[in-house]
Amino acid sequence: MTHIRPLRTVESALRASDNGMRDADNAALHGVAVKTIRRWRRLYQRRGQPRGQQHTIAPCPRCEDAELDGAAYAELLGWYLGDGHISRQRRDVFGLHVVNDKRYVHDLDRIAVLMARVKPGGRPHGRSVPGAVIVTTSWKHWPCLFPQHGPGRKHQRPIVLEDWQRSLVETHPAAFLRGLFHSDGCRANNWTRKKIDGRWKRYDYPRWQFTNHSADIRELCCWALDLLDIPWRQSNRYVVSVSTRAGVARLDELIGLKS
Ligand SMILES: [Zn+2]
Repeated sequence: MTHIRPLRTVESALRASDNGMRDADNAALHGVAVKTIRRWRRLYQRRGQPRGQQHTIAPCPRCEDAELDGAAYAELLGWYLGDGHISRQRRDVFGLHVVNDKRYVHDLDRIAVLMARVKPGGRPHGRSVPGAVIVTTSWKHWPCLFPQHGPGRKHQRPIVLEDWQRSLVETHPAAFLRGLFHSDGCRANNWTRKKIDGRWKRYDYPRWQFTNHSADIRELCCWALDLLDIPWRQSNRYVVSVSTRAGVARLDELIGLKS
């Protein structure tokens, strides 16, 4: 009987092999026999699945009939609108890139997981730049999923969701807000002192703020907050704030802290 390894072990070994690791080292690293590494490579080649070509294989939920993970998509859309972009890489293949502060390691992992849920079989990878990590996954179909892709910066062109995107956000508004606030938002802790019965007492006023230069994207943020009955206000030109105690608590519960 064949010993079945977790797919992620197979994937990892094939990737190492692609990157030029010797079979013996690869086998030792993954705890399998050298002949197993060779067999995996043969199997994948015979099936016509040359490694690194999965962007041509994963079917598209828009122009083909693949299923779309709605919650993952709604959140990834938030990340994309907050701090993402799409670039043409080669031929018909596009890269979806999401930039995030390198301090938030759990969020970085989460972005990778979201990409892999939206593009099954996708293999996100990270690249370090000063202060941040760019998480990227390649696929032919990113423009199908993010039709907002276009020339120029997002705040210098209209950003309008298509009907199918609006209905996914209506189903998963918290996921969408999580993507927006975890990319372009922050949870600030303001405090003040008040004198009560002759004693100074400290009061904390946490609030969530979403900062984006695109009026369209700020409006989408407000729309999603409205869907959840969370009160907000425009606190300055580029900033939407949630600052009532109940609103902050609700948002904390729905989207969690950046981490
Ligand atoms: Zn497509």
